[in-house]
Amino acid sequence: MELTKDGYAVGGVTLQGIAKKFETPVYVYDADQIIANYHELKNAFTGVEVKLKYACKALTNINVLKLLKNEGAGLDTVSIEEAKLGLHAGFEPNEILFTPNSVSFEEIKEAVKLGLIINIDELSILERFGNEYGNTVPCCIRLNPHIMAGGNTHISVGHIDSKFGISIYQVPHIKRIVDALNINVNGLHMHTGSDILDAEVFLRGAQLLYEAAKSFANLEFMDFGSGFKVKYKEGDITTDVNDIGAKIVDSFKAFCKDYGKNLELWFEPGKYLVSNAGQFLVSVNVVKQTTSTVFAGVNSGQNHLLRPMMYDAYHHIVNVSNPKGTERIYSVVGYICESDTLGYDRRLNEVRVGDILAIGNAGAYGFSMSSNYNSRLRPAEVLVYNGKAHLIRKRENLEYLLENQIEIEL
Ligand SMILES: *Cc1c(COP(=O)(O)O)cnc(C)c1O
Repeated sequence: MELTKDGYAVGGVTLQGIAKKFETPVYVYDADQIIANYHELKNAFTGVEVKLKYACKALTNINVLKLLKNEGAGLDTVSIEEAKLGLHAGFEPNEILFTPNSVSFEEIKEAVKLGLIINIDELSILERFGNEYGNTVPCCIRLNPHIMAGGNTHISVGHIDSKFGISIYQVPHIKRIVDALNINVNGLHMHTGSDILDAEVFLRGAQLLYEAAKSFANLEFMDFGSGFKVKYKEGDITTDVNDIGAKIVDSFKAFCKDYGKNLELWFEPGKYLVSNAGQFLVSVNVVKQTTSTVFAGVNSGQNHLLRPMMYDAYHHIVNVSNPKGTERIYSVVGYICESDTLGYDRRLNEVRVGDILAIGNAGAYGFSMSSNYNSRLRPAEVLVYNGKAHLIRKRENLEYLLENQIEIEL
């Protein structure tokens, strides 16, 4: 998003124009930004065969999937439904990694039938998989290296109490199952959490995977998951992808030499590709002065953007309608009957009833975590592509709320 002489704009189209045309609340995504993010990350790993598998749970609109497919991305999916959306968007099954947790074995069988790359994160599932397929279907194994990335327990999934992956200490047990059932392990995977701040921490995890790799002779790829931290506010410490990229490329090359084969290096970025490409536009319904603060109440809330309430996440907010107004302090709140504060004590250009606010970093885990709580309708989605704003999801309507309900005789 940039501030131009015509106001805030995305990909050359003003947000005010988009709000007027498509109404609010509306999610707006910048295709150019997504493409730029993809190439920035990919280029950070020059020197090895790197593949980015977009973790599509961040934002699953099929147009975004297609956009990334066109750039050469694969997909990381955590449910059979996500995988089917990926197939619908045109991804080949062998470009889609299926990384579920706690799903039924039937779902894994369905994924095999679709031809997806299977990632297994539980010993008993591995055993069932081996009994069912032997060496006819390869699989990847998700390991938990017990590396703590970042300090937020909501989004750290590599630590000791995590439900994800098979413990790195259980590699001998994995090996016994793999040998006994003649399983073809073609990849090793780790996803330590959502915040890689420190190359050293990350490389320690990588080292553990290299060590584990010695137990598997047929590997084709190593998948280091995600954890690329993006900027949500000024001063945020973010992952320096070029620094980390150079270090990982060096260590990966050394590993491949040792292993005796050039493997592919995979990552599964979600946030990094789409977070900063999204703006969520809402309208101000009320400006309410209380004894302690001024509330700007908007036509949205935790039903549309859950991250501030669920993770205490900061999302930057600007007043699109009054970019030159005097700055004042507001708490921006939603219309849901919970304390759904989207932003505490924010300095905004003077807010008037009817103004459009843009909530930043709304590309990742925005729409995809939205709900119909309070029987509110989910917002529309717009993609700015080639200098033009395209509607890519209709706003829901009341029929949608009633569609699956069955009225019985009462
Ligand atoms: C959520 C998830 C990701 C993406 O995480 P981001 O923080 O959005 O980059 C990658 N891999 C797996 C297995 C995930 O569950």
